[in-house]
Amino acid sequence: MSESPALLLGSVMPDFAVWSERVTVALGQNPSAFTGPGTNTYLIGTGPQRILIDPGDGRDEYLPVLEQAMEAAGCEGLQEIIVTHGHPDHIGGVQSVLDRYGDTKVSKRPWPENDAHYGFEITPIDDGCVIKTEGATLRGFHAPGHCPDHLCFMLEEEQAIFSGDNILGIGTTIIPAESGSLSDYMTSLGRIEGEAPKRIYPAHGPCIADGQAKVREYIEHRLDREAQIIAAFGSETRSVIEVVRTVYAAYPEALYPAAGQSVTSHLIKLEIEGRAARSGGEKDSVLDVCWRMT
Ligand SMILES: [Zn+2]
Repeated sequence: MSESPALLLGSVMPDFAVWSERVTVALGQNPSAFTGPGTNTYLIGTGPQRILIDPGDGRDEYLPVLEQAMEAAGCEGLQEIIVTHGHPDHIGGVQSVLDRYGDTKVSKRPWPENDAHYGFEITPIDDGCVIKTEGATLRGFHAPGHCPDHLCFMLEEEQAIFSGDNILGIGTTIIPAESGSLSDYMTSLGRIEGEAPKRIYPAHGPCIADGQAKVREYIEHRLDREAQIIAAFGSETRSVIEVVRTVYAAYPEALYPAAGQSVTSHLIKLEIEGRAARSGGEKDSVLDVCWRMT
């Protein structure tokens, strides 16, 4: 999911493409304001059986595209499915792929209250897991923040990272105020930067040729936003919507609820660091909550 819907809506990608000798992408056929051109679903490896990462959200149009992509990649079947995280545009397509290609292992990092919605068996994987197929080795590492269960995968042969929703090919990631954590997300970006990725294969949008530059850009973007939010408060107590109107003045009002989530995520991070405090009681909407810098 991205926080830049207007930007994402304008971007178009082919249904499938071979991005390297061991990476083929098939679009999930689920374009939207939040998913951009749709979810990138990835076939990994060089052998007859490949790993499939994130099989989209489960719409009928996806299976023929996956079939074409498998043909283009030169593979006959699926070794197993890996899910980066439990959002519906990543995990929602698992069942229909299992129905079409037969039962195969489905692995992800557990997020029990979320994963319970899905009827298939999940093999738990976690930080440090290594998953191999012919021609490719994936090393998983935990990168929470966008959501608690998120794993990224280093493709060792290419020093390239499957970033899921942590880094996108276009726009920036939503950090939900409730289930996300900007504090964790910044740590995760640091971890991705520490892996010194060459390419990044994102879950939405085009392949990122200079991974390290993109991670740096993401870190700078959040730090800039944080500085703008702190400046918007000055020494006053303000509601989130007042801050949104200042910081996001150039954006259409339709985006203000999403911007309110983002500002709140920043304020929770600053609260954890002892730099911001809530001022006032419970409110119906995060937009109405008042905060001040401490
Ligand atoms: Zn997501």
